[in-house]
Amino acid sequence: MNSKQLNCIVINPFAGNGRGKKLAGRLKKHPDFKGLEIHSPVNLVEAAAIYNELNRKDVHLMLAGGDGTFNSVVNLVEPPYNFKISFIPSGSGNDLARYFKLGSNAKTELKKAMLRGTESKMDVWDTTISFADGTIEKRKFINTLGVGFDAYVGTLKEKKKFLTGIAVYVVSLFQALFSYDSVTYKIQIDGDLKYSSEAMFITTGNGMYSGGGFKLTPNAVVDDGLLEMCIVDTMSLPKIFVNLPKAITGSHVRINETTLFNTNSYTMLLDKPAYIHLDGETYSKKATSVRVELSPHKLGIST
Ligand SMILES: [Mg+2]
Repeated sequence: MNSKQLNCIVINPFAGNGRGKKLAGRLKKHPDFKGLEIHSPVNLVEAAAIYNELNRKDVHLMLAGGDGTFNSVVNLVEPPYNFKISFIPSGSGNDLARYFKLGSNAKTELKKAMLRGTESKMDVWDTTISFADGTIEKRKFINTLGVGFDAYVGTLKEKKKFLTGIAVYVVSLFQALFSYDSVTYKIQIDGDLKYSSEAMFITTGNGMYSGGGFKLTPNAVVDDGLLEMCIVDTMSLPKIFVNLPKAITGSHVRINETTLFNTNSYTMLLDKPAYIHLDGETYSKKATSVRVELSPHKLGIST
């Protein structure tokens, strides 16, 4: 551990149905974490101010939350990213934590993170999304971007405030299976049309996991400057039921309906507007196109 380094933790108090808030309370009382600067911003404006204030070379930022919290840091901080980040899983979506093989106990992970010195650089991906309502948004992601079925499940999940935990996920998944629309897409790479057809979903992976533990892009590596793309063709409902469990282990890549390839940028045009998510963060509106390219700014991580 670098002794000059300032150890800080930013906790999303809303992550994981209140898990974040409880964690903040426990850390403040715990003798092991004396001297650790603790922040728990209550909104995005406050989070942005704290992140940007902490974005210095001498800061080791422990970030406690889920995939949405980890996504917020690259979107709220004005690059370059100077601090070093450790992810502390305490959210409901922990796909990035799964990639780094982190345990589910936030306090244990925090203790380990505070002692770690090794650092690597993680790729950050710049995205420009055009929506059907004519708006354009520039966002970044660090784990996965999904178009089609998985984004639709996420959008349905967002609407179910009356259910919690696994129930909301299962209900949304089933609802989506019976009502999803296939994606009609064209993928251009370096200006050339490379892929075009109909798909159930198209996942872009910087990390391996998305949708709450599905290993959709099993060969993705977060620091190789490349994305692993996984296109799964539209299939019949019985076929989906047979193949869905394969996506948990990553063996869906061996079925005929799956296409995998690597790229460092692409433009996807959607003939019919489709749902999209970035690191599990969904939109209520549908996208008509998305452009993805490697950001020149990497994120220093200690994991
Ligand atoms: Mg990669």
